[in-house]
Amino acid sequence: MTNKIKLVSTISDKIYPFERIEEFANNGESLEVKIKGIKNAKIRDGKYLWQRFVDFLPFSTIDESISLGEGNTALIKADKKLLDFVDLNNLYLKNETQNPTWSFKDRGSLACIAMAKEMNEFVTATISTGNMGASIAAYGAKSGIKVIVFVPDYTPKEKIMAMGIHGANVMKIIAPDYSEMKKKVLSIAKKMNLRIVSGNGPIRVEGYKMVSFELFEQFERKVPDYIAVPTSACGHIRGIFKGYRELKETGIITNLPKMIVVQAHNNSPIVSAIKKGKKHVIPFSNFHTIAGAITTGNPMGGDEIIDKVRKYGWLAEDVTEEEIIESQKRLAESGYFVEPASATSLFAIKKLRLAGKIEKDASVVMMLTGSGLKDSEVLKYQKANVQEIKLEKIETAISKILNLS
Ligand SMILES: *Cc1c(COP(=O)(O)O)cnc(C)c1O
Repeated sequence: MTNKIKLVSTISDKIYPFERIEEFANNGESLEVKIKGIKNAKIRDGKYLWQRFVDFLPFSTIDESISLGEGNTALIKADKKLLDFVDLNNLYLKNETQNPTWSFKDRGSLACIAMAKEMNEFVTATISTGNMGASIAAYGAKSGIKVIVFVPDYTPKEKIMAMGIHGANVMKIIAPDYSEMKKKVLSIAKKMNLRIVSGNGPIRVEGYKMVSFELFEQFERKVPDYIAVPTSACGHIRGIFKGYRELKETGIITNLPKMIVVQAHNNSPIVSAIKKGKKHVIPFSNFHTIAGAITTGNPMGGDEIIDKVRKYGWLAEDVTEEEIIESQKRLAESGYFVEPASATSLFAIKKLRLAGKIEKDASVVMMLTGSGLKDSEVLKYQKANVQEIKLEKIETAISKILNLS
């Protein structure tokens, strides 16, 4: 297997072995998996996505027993309310909250656990603002791999409880900033020969790219014009794009989607760099945003995304706290209950459309990355119509709603 598969640094093209424990190149660049001869890859028959697209994956097979049924999430055209809100004719929602632990992270966790099995490792660790920890904890439980999760101290209790119930060892780290904590933990990895899977590791990205294969099937082999992705560690966005790039290498498709990088205005290390025409990430620290799942202030590997925005004509937009809250409400009013980080894309798309950067007829996909139920604290910003009613007043209350009184 190993001489056919390599890791390559994403800006300077340096080669590293597939088994590498550290997830980044020595100079800090992101790494990606390169499989020799992928241009001859074919789509196969098979029950699971990983079976149909096995030629594109670094694993000869994925043991069915480690899966929790990730993927197969709905792709739904937005209703009139949402279409009017963003002023588009063709907006689609890819509902990744339907994954086993309610976020897209499960697709990456499947790949990470498959890798751990392939390498005969019995412990996997991760650094997480919540969703990834919960996801790895669940997949570790399913496959009998011990899990350690490092979380920042602001992680919502719902997410920590989810990790806990699956039996993970959770370490709440008190650190000034998420990026600092991440750097420190990653530096320990090699010393202790512990594979610490982060949000932007090359193997995780192989899992994420499977969603582009799923979209390819759901769009009946057509490619959407734009895909909007709330971006933090950068693994998701580059995974989706890598899948399409590899399909193009085989000639199965001929064009690529343009990605839309979305960040919270209060933490926009990548988007602000792009807007200012800079080549490097502009680090943020000591910020606050309700979009808790996209709080990497200084993403390692962020420069690759800035590079790709220039190279492929991607778009980028940031959104304010008020815009995030409104987006969360608008999505909920159309039936989608997502967490704030997930909601960011809606307003970003609206702003890009208003600025004339997206054509009215373009097909745009927004990735609904994570469920709203896992962060109840932020719901204080949303109104809910809940009333306390005495038994004898029930009839009057109903009458009011039915306009009978
Ligand atoms: C992890 C996460 C993101 C950000 O994805 P990255 O791969 O870190 O860029 C966005 N939304 C939700 C809900 C997440 O859990």
